[in-house]
Amino acid sequence: MKAVRRPLFWYSLAMWLLSIVIAALLIQLGGLIMSDVPTAGKRIAKSEFVNSTQLEATETEIETLKDALRNNKNDIEDARFLLNSSTLDYQNQRANFENWIKTRSATESSNQNAQVIERVEAIELLKLEERKAQRTVEALEQEAVKTNRALQDLQSQRSQILNDANAPYEKARKFEVLKVFMLRLALTLPLLLISGWMILKKRGSSYWPIYRSFILFSLFAFFVELVPYLPSYGGYVRYIVGILLALLFAHFSIKAMTRYLQNKKNEEKRPETEKRKLIEYETAVKKISDGVCPSCDRQFSAKKPRKGEGQPETNVDFCVHCGFCLFSKCTNCGERENSFYKFCGACGVPSGNEATPADV
Ligand SMILES: [Zn+2]
Ligand SMILES: [Zn+2]
Repeated sequence: MKAVRRPLFWYSLAMWLLSIVIAALLIQLGGLIMSDVPTAGKRIAKSEFVNSTQLEATETEIETLKDALRNNKNDIEDARFLLNSSTLDYQNQRANFENWIKTRSATESSNQNAQVIERVEAIELLKLEERKAQRTVEALEQEAVKTNRALQDLQSQRSQILNDANAPYEKARKFEVLKVFMLRLALTLPLLLISGWMILKKRGSSYWPIYRSFILFSLFAFFVELVPYLPSYGGYVRYIVGILLALLFAHFSIKAMTRYLQNKKNEEKRPETEKRKLIEYETAVKKISDGVCPSCDRQFSAKKPRKGEGQPETNVDFCVHCGFCLFSKCTNCGERENSFYKFCGACGVPSGNEATPADV
């Protein structure tokens, strides 16, 4: 609504750009500082929480048992080999003996009885050898089963030791994240408070664009950069502070509106000469050409001017709501014109509108 000189428009646009650029640079700088300062938080490894002496002891035992199993496997192979050969020996001897018995039965003699006994004893001995080899194999196999069980026990013991580290590790990790979040909150919340103070105190300053960039930066730092560090808490903080800011904004807007209406009411009671002095020249010219009364801010013309046309198509010279003089006639040539024009648009003579209300 406010009419400004063209350069002023470009100036404020450039200043907005400048604010955004400075804010972006501040954000980058802030990010660098955050990553260099120890607020980034240290990496926590799970291995820090494992009982290492217990784990090492268990692992040494596991290695010993694995070695024992390997040796045991070799021993079993050797024993089986022995068993096989003694079985073969026994079977050969027995086959020989049976053949011998068959040939012997034809020529039976008493002195051969002693030989039978001798041979049978030899076979018995081989049988014993075989049994012995069998037992060795069985004993070794039993040992393997036992070692395997012990190994399984040790392995589950090891995973238990590793599992025991989970709870303290999770706890430490959460604590670290919370710490980082708190540090960041401690850094960004004051920025937000400083911004609030700037909005309250520095709005009218000519250096406002610079203050504005700081405010943009603090808003970004608080609402965007803080959150990823602790999504759950971050969300709470972001929404609560956001709601508070919105409520504050609403509070101040309502107050400003009430004040504005009060001012307008007071203004309307004053004589028109005084009102004219209070109204800014450029604003008034713009408002009248838009069909709005510069005194009471109400629309006096039902028809808004089309784009490119300077004045609304209306014959109203005074505001229909408050009686304010909107259009007047030039004292020199009698042309009907905006009552705020300083010079007559038709004849170029100073209209004298600044000081006195225009006569009709
Ligand atoms: Zn009016
Ligand atoms: Zn004139």
